[in-house]
Amino acid sequence: MGTRAAAFTAKIRNLSDYHLRLLHAVVPAPSGLDIANTLKYFSQTLLGVLREIQERPMDMLHHRDQDAMRLALFPNLDYSGLHQSLVALVDIMPLIQYGTQVFGQALLNTMACLVVFLERKVIDTLPYLVASMMTSIPDTLHHQLITTLCYYILPVTVGASAAEGEEENYAAASVPAVLMMIFQYTDNSAFHCELLECLMALKADIVKDLLCVIAYGTPTSRPPAANLLFYYWPNLNPTLYDRRGVHIKFSGWKPLVCQIEECDGDGTSEAVKVCHDHAVCLGACPDNPPPLYICIDCVEDIKREHSTVEFFDILMPMAQVSATCENKNCRSSEKNAIATCFSMECASYNGNKPIRYCTQCNNIRHNNRRGTDHVVHTTIGSPWAMDPQMQNYTIEAIV
Ligand SMILES: [Zn+2]
Ligand SMILES: [Zn+2]
Ligand SMILES: [Zn+2]
Ligand SMILES: [Zn+2]
Repeated sequence: MGTRAAAFTAKIRNLSDYHLRLLHAVVPAPSGLDIANTLKYFSQTLLGVLREIQERPMDMLHHRDQDAMRLALFPNLDYSGLHQSLVALVDIMPLIQYGTQVFGQALLNTMACLVVFLERKVIDTLPYLVASMMTSIPDTLHHQLITTLCYYILPVTVGASAAEGEEENYAAASVPAVLMMIFQYTDNSAFHCELLECLMALKADIVKDLLCVIAYGTPTSRPPAANLLFYYWPNLNPTLYDRRGVHIKFSGWKPLVCQIEECDGDGTSEAVKVCHDHAVCLGACPDNPPPLYICIDCVEDIKREHSTVEFFDILMPMAQVSATCENKNCRSSEKNAIATCFSMECASYNGNKPIRYCTQCNNIRHNNRRGTDHVVHTTIGSPWAMDPQMQNYTIEAIV
C-alpha cells in the first residue's frame, strides 16, 4: 500500500473513532470542528487525486455505461470506506454539540468531492442521503444542501443517461422521498421551486413523483407538493388558470453566483455556464469540487487562456409560469400554453429559461423528427389514459 493510501485509511479510522466517541458519549466529545478538519483532509486529497487524471471523469459521470472506464482511472484508495464513514456521520449529526455549522459545511463539501470516485450503486443513493441531512442540519445550511443536490448530485444521478437495458434505477426511484424530505424540513418556497425545476429538467415523469408525495406524503409535505403541482401545471385546474386562485406566493429562486473567487462581480454575478473539464475547474478554483459554475465574464477570461474548453449553458429560474405561449413567432390562434420544455435547445429562445408552448408550437418543436430528446412537461390528461401507477397516485392524491 502506498503512503497516500495508508494515510487515507488511517484518516478513515479517525472518522470512525469520532463516530464511536459521539455514539457512546465518551468524554471529551469531539466537536464539529475536529471532524470538519479531518473532512478537509479528504476533500483536499480527493481533489489532488483528480488533478492528476488526464482523462475526463466528470463527463463520464453523466453516462452509466462509462462507469467501469471512469473507475479504472483512479488510484486504489478506500473511497467506499470513506463513503460509509460519511453515512455514519450523517446518523450521529444530532449528537454533535459544538461546531455543527462548520461540520455540516465540510460534510456536504466532502460528499461533492467524493461523488466521481464512487461506484454507481453507491452514487445512486446520494440524493436521498443528502436530502436526509435536512433532519439535523442547521437552517443556515439549507441553501448549501439544496445547492449540493441540484448542482452536484442530481445531474449525475437522476440526470445520468441509462445503461442499456436498464430498468428504473435507485436514484430515480428515490425522488419522491427526496422531495418529501425537503418539503418537510423547510418551508422556503424558493428552495422547493429550485429543487423541482432542477428535477423537471432531468426527469420527464416528475409529475408522477409529485403526485406520489401528494398521495402518500407526510401531512407537512403534501400542501407544498400540491401547490407546486398547480403552479407548474396550471392547466390541471381550469378554475385556477388565471392564477387568481393560487394563494401562495412563490418567491422565486436565484441562480448560483459565479464560483470564481476573483470574479469582477464580487459574488453578485450569476453563474450562466458550467464547465466539466476538471483540470480547468481546479485551475480556476482549486478548493471547489468540479464542475465549475461561472458567470459570462469569467467564461471569457478562461477562454482567453484555454480556447478549446467547452462550456455548457445552464437553465435560469422560470420566474413565472406563463399562461400563454412564449414562442415569439407563435402563429396559433389558440395561444393557451399547455407544455413546458426544459431543454436548452428550446430554452435558448427564451433567455435560457424553460419555455411554455401552446399546442401548435409544442407539436412543431417536438415531434418524431425534432426535439425527440427534449424534456417536455405537458398536462397529465384524463386519469383513465394513465399508466396504472400514475392512476393510483392521482386517485389517492384527489382523495
Ligand atoms: Zn458526455
Ligand atoms: Zn465570474
Ligand atoms: Zn405557440
Ligand atoms: Zn424543446
